[in-house]
Amino acid sequence: MISLVAGGAGFIGSHLCERLLKDKEEVICVDNLGSGSFDNIRHLTKDKNFKFIEHNIIEPLRLIEGRVDKIYHLASRASPIDYQKYPVETALANSVGTHNLAKLAISKNAKLLFTSTSEAYGEPREHPQKESYWGNVNPVGIRSCYDESKRFGEALLMAYYREYGMNIKIVRIFNTYGPRMRIDDGRVIPNFITQALENKPITIYGNGKQTRSFCYVDDMIDGLVKMMESKEIGPKNLGNPKEYTMIETANIIKRLTKSKSEFIYNELPKDDPTKRQPDISKAMEFLSWEPKVNFEDGLKKTIEYFKGRVNESS
Ligand code: UDP
Repeated sequence: MISLVAGGAGFIGSHLCERLLKDKEEVICVDNLGSGSFDNIRHLTKDKNFKFIEHNIIEPLRLIEGRVDKIYHLASRASPIDYQKYPVETALANSVGTHNLAKLAISKNAKLLFTSTSEAYGEPREHPQKESYWGNVNPVGIRSCYDESKRFGEALLMAYYREYGMNIKIVRIFNTYGPRMRIDDGRVIPNFITQALENKPITIYGNGKQTRSFCYVDDMIDGLVKMMESKEIGPKNLGNPKEYTMIETANIIKRLTKSKSEFIYNELPKDDPTKRQPDISKAMEFLSWEPKVNFEDGLKKTIEYFKGRVNESS
């Protein structure tokens, strides 16, 4: 089997490439190294089944020769700070980029899995979020470059499916964490861990009572592969339903790192959802998938990774 992973040098993408190689697949990793990093995939380049192509999927993918059986689209910035800095690039990666990958999939007769997001639900009025919920998204807000382009990506692939019978798969990824998240990524887990390790103030935005549900990366990869191998079209939520407030999250990280950090309260970013928790009954029923790694075990592995990075950068 030959899989193409767009965004394969990113946090989730690099773990996916690794897993597919372990499953004895050939992997073509396509990445423009915008938010991804060659360091994430350097160890894979020794494998004869791994090929890296530096390319931005916003441009047509003419350079992909030969057979491709499966395409995973993970090529988008996903950190709110990051995508708000590059809103046009982000909007295009999920729209034009999805279109380019769909054209490639059709020409290769390949399956295409699109990674949409829990942000498709916006500031949710239903809790937990089921796939049947249409969401509550600000179409012109500062997050819209991301959430509306993900929603468009879903709509575009449904159009391809309805018009051409294309083999598509849509998943909605909820907050995911683990080794290879960027230290300066701006998201809550890397921020809290690096602040705690350096005994610097832990920055809680707003009153810290907003919730997220965090999925360890290995569980996420398992879900992505199961979805690709299933007959399902989706959308399917993939995430860990265990929900934490940001204060609880900070306290757990502080305890696991034995940190002396204090908490400081900063302004809540605009359009920051107050709660988020996936209903994963569909993934459980149709993919026989559910997360296995509990938050503290996943955090311990992530903290070990960040210890190395913090030492390197100091
Ligand atoms: N957050 C925080 N402190 C930080 C970074 C983030 O309290 O240093 C909060 C943020 O306001 C949000 C939650 O943590 O409510 C998750 O933010 P993140 O940027 O990780 O991603 P999101 O889930 O919003 O896409």
